[in-house]
Amino acid sequence: MLEPDAADARAESGAPSELIFGARGESAFRQGCEELLRQAGLRPTRQRLVLGWLLFAKGGRHLTAEMLHAEATAANAHMSLATVYNTLHQFTEAGLLRQIGVDGSKSFFDTNPTAHHHFFVDKEERLFDIPEPGALIDKLPEPLPGYEVSRVDVIVHLRRKQAASG
Ligand SMILES: [Zn+2]
Repeated sequence: MLEPDAADARAESGAPSELIFGARGESAFRQGCEELLRQAGLRPTRQRLVLGWLLFAKGGRHLTAEMLHAEATAANAHMSLATVYNTLHQFTEAGLLRQIGVDGSKSFFDTNPTAHHHFFVDKEERLFDIPEPGALIDKLPEPLPGYEVSRVDVIVHLRRKQAASG
C-alpha cells in the first residue's frame, strides 16, 4: 500500500505530467494517490486526484470544504463547492478521511482517519491534534444497556487568554 509520504519520497523521472502534477515529486505522488483511491474502492477521476493530492500530499491536515475549495481554485483546478463536498464525503465513506463536527454547523475533514483528539481554537477556526491524548479520558461512562462505545471524539475548545488585568 502506498502511503502518501512514501509515494512522495519515491520521486520518479519520466512520468507523464499534467497541469497540477507537473513537478517530478508530484507526479510520483499522483501515482500514489491513484493507488490510494483504487485501494479505497474509488475510481481515480481527475477531480478526486486533484483533491486527493491537495489533501494527502502535505502530511496531516484538518480542512473544511471551503478551505479545500479555495486551495483547488488557487491551484487552477476549478470545481464547484458542491463537488468538493461530495468528494470529501466519498473519501470519508471510503475511510480515507474522518469528518469532525466542531460546533454543530462546521465540519472539518482530517487526513488522519484513526481515533485521536483535537484542540479547536474557537475564534480562529483552527483544529489541531492533541499530541498526547492518553491522559484525557481515564474513565468512560458505562454505555447504555445493549450498546458498546464505538469511539470517543474529544474536542477541547480554546480561546486566547485575556490580557492580564490584575
Ligand atoms: Zn486530527
